[in-house]
Order: sequence, then structure tokens, then C-alpha cells
Amino acid sequence: MTAPDRLRPRRRSTATVDIGGVLVGSAHPVVVQSMTNTDTADPDATAIQVARLAHAGSQLVRVTVNTDAAAAAVPEMLRKLADLGVSVPVVGDFHYNGHKLLIDHPAAAAGLAKYRINPGNVGAKRHDEHFQTIVRVAIDNDKPVRIGVNWGSLDQQLLTDLMDRNARRPEPLDARDVMIDAMIESAMRSAELAEATGLRHDRIIISAKVSRVRDLVDVYRLLAARSDYPLHLGLTEAGLGMKGIVASTAGIAILLEEGIGDTIRVSLTPAPGGEREEEVRVAQQILQSMGLRAFLPQVSACPGCGRTTSTFFQEMAEKIQGHLRDRMPEWRSIHPGVEDMTVAVMGCVVNGPGESKHADIGISLPGTFEDPVAPVFMDGKLDRTLRGEGLVDEFIAILEDYVERRYPAAREPVGA
Ligand code: SF4
Repeated sequence: MTAPDRLRPRRRSTATVDIGGVLVGSAHPVVVQSMTNTDTADPDATAIQVARLAHAGSQLVRVTVNTDAAAAAVPEMLRKLADLGVSVPVVGDFHYNGHKLLIDHPAAAAGLAKYRINPGNVGAKRHDEHFQTIVRVAIDNDKPVRIGVNWGSLDQQLLTDLMDRNARRPEPLDARDVMIDAMIESAMRSAELAEATGLRHDRIIISAKVSRVRDLVDVYRLLAARSDYPLHLGLTEAGLGMKGIVASTAGIAILLEEGIGDTIRVSLTPAPGGEREEEVRVAQQILQSMGLRAFLPQVSACPGCGRTTSTFFQEMAEKIQGHLRDRMPEWRSIHPGVEDMTVAVMGCVVNGPGESKHADIGISLPGTFEDPVAPVFMDGKLDRTLRGEGLVDEFIAILEDYVERRYPAAREPVGA
């Protein structure tokens, strides 16, 4: 066992759920997933966005299935995806009418890789009946389900019952604790009902999403203690930009560090005109920063300070980072292992050579008043020094050469 493994407490689901060939749970790597924001009734737009999310690295993509038109369009969308050569499992997100749509659209039920059921949104009067209808369709089609509780649509009857029971306690809990208990009860009772209906234990994933970090941590710690189902993590309604990224990272990272969580989604609100794939890149970066998975060579760049004389250093760091990102699609298929590479781009002699030695390959620019040379380190040793205006392009050529030698081309492209 390596030191990081030894230090990291583990709560792993013992069950593994197979979602269209993607394995979630147990010792399998934490899976990145995402969700489209197109109208599912438009099979072209949805297929294109699913393909873009998959190309960015999303291993599962969820689409909303909210109307007859959306359900009817699912088979066509899946055909278009196949035509594009994209085989990512597509998950259907159902609320209110999932029991009806899945019965009325058997081709959609057969084509989707998993159904997400929100137990708070299956109807109040015939709650169990509708829930069981979806579960029976899942059993008939041999599909897993995610029981996805959300505090914005919590089962109101259950919450009211728990609130009433709490009010009769000698020392009532506060409303937040009752809400957390209600979320966990909703998830666990639904899972029990699904199994009682005949769904296998290893066909169930659970999530219980909230929008505040502390609540997320508490809910999932309790869920993890109560069950061994694989858990899907994410902050719901994480928000825009930096707030959404920081809040999602904080919540997900705490839980992953405790070994809680088998699949994650970062629910960012894209900026107008922004790319939906951003949520995939953030999820990957969380996993890579924590040392749980590797997707892209990592650049260690210093923040720069008064010793860096111009924007040259920032431009260099950005150019190298961009080069790595642009080259990864090809490198990934012909240079297995390159995603583990570390690259240092440093601004001066203070930490530059030291950080470069720790990286696989690194460059340290001359700071203010230093000799105008840029030492390049490879595998911990000084390899050469560069100077002059063309040093960024020279370093990129050295980087290309390093990748060729250090990560020899696979005989067959990976994934061919
Ligand atoms: S490595 Fe040099 S330039 Fe970069 S932050 Fe440290 S002291 Fe400043």
C-alpha cells in the first residue's frame, strides 16, 4: 500500500453497478458524469452536445426526458450518436411522468443506459405505485437506476411526518437536521422499495444533493454509514463560475478524501455562450488534483511575483498549458501514460530549479537581475539551458521529444 493510500480512509461501496459498460463503485475509479442542457426533443442538438461532453471526457451523460416528444426523440438521438462514433452511455432523467414515459416509449426505455428517479417527484397520491412502475421497467430492460434525492424536491409527506415526529421529542432537533434525516430516509426507503420490487442490489446508485457544502458533507457521511450502495456526489445548483467551481470542489473533495463517492458531477451554470464541457473539465481536475485519477499532464506554475519582470512568464505558462491540452487527444491514443506527466513552468531561480527537479520536465525563466538563461530539467537533472526570444518554442519542441521517448508509442492506438 502506498503512503497516500495508507493515509486515506476508505468507505467504498461493495457493490459495483454496470451502467452500459461503465463500472461504478467498489474499487473502480471515480466516474465523471455530466448533463446536457439542450431540448431532448431536438435529437440533433442533443446528440451533438452529448458527443461534445463525451469527447471532453464525460463517461456518462444524462439527458432530461420530460415530455412525450423528448422520449420519442431518444432513439433517434442515440442513432445519431452511434453515427458520430460516440458510445457513451446516456442516462434518462425522469420527474413526475417517468412511469408513463417509460411505458409509452419502450424504445427509449431500451436505449437509455440508466434511469434517474427522484423519489420526491413521482407523485404524492400514488407515489409507491409510480415508483415501482419505473423500477419494473428497469428490471424488464435490465437497467440500473439512480435514486436521486434533491432537497429542492424532497418528498413533502415524508418531511412533514418527520417534522411532526421531531416536534413530539423532548428535545427536538433543529430543522436542518430533520431535513437531512428526511433526505436519507427518502433515499433508503426508496432503495428498499426498489429491492422489494425485484431490482437487484447491484442495480442501484444513490445520490442526495443539496446546495450547501456543509449540508452535502453531513448528508453523504450519514448515507455512507447507512448503506453500501455506490454514491453519486455533487452539489446541486452549484452556481456560476468561480463560486460554483469552488463550492463544488470543496464539498466533493472533502468526501472523496474520506473515501466517500463513486461518481461525481459538477453542476455548473454555464456563462452565456460558455461551454457545457467546463463541468467535465472541472470534475476531472478535482480528481486529478487529489491524485485519484489522471487525465491531462499537470503543469506546476508559480504565481509569479516582483521577480518576474513582464507578462512573458504568464504567456509562457499559458502557451505550454494550451499545448498540452491541444496535444492530449492524439497523445492519449498513442502515448499511454502521458496523462501522468508533470511539467514545471517557473518564474525565477528561487523555487524554479527545485520545482523543476520534482517534475518530469521543467523550465525556469530568469527573474529580474538574473543571468538571462532558462535551465531545463528532465527527470530531476539539468538537461540544458535556453536563452533568447525563441525559448518557448524551443521548450515545446523539447517537450514533444520528451513525450516521444518517455512514453513510447503503443503498437495499436489506445482504444482502437
Ligand atoms: S519562483 Fe520566483 S518568480 Fe515564481 S513566485 Fe517564486 S520567487 Fe516569484
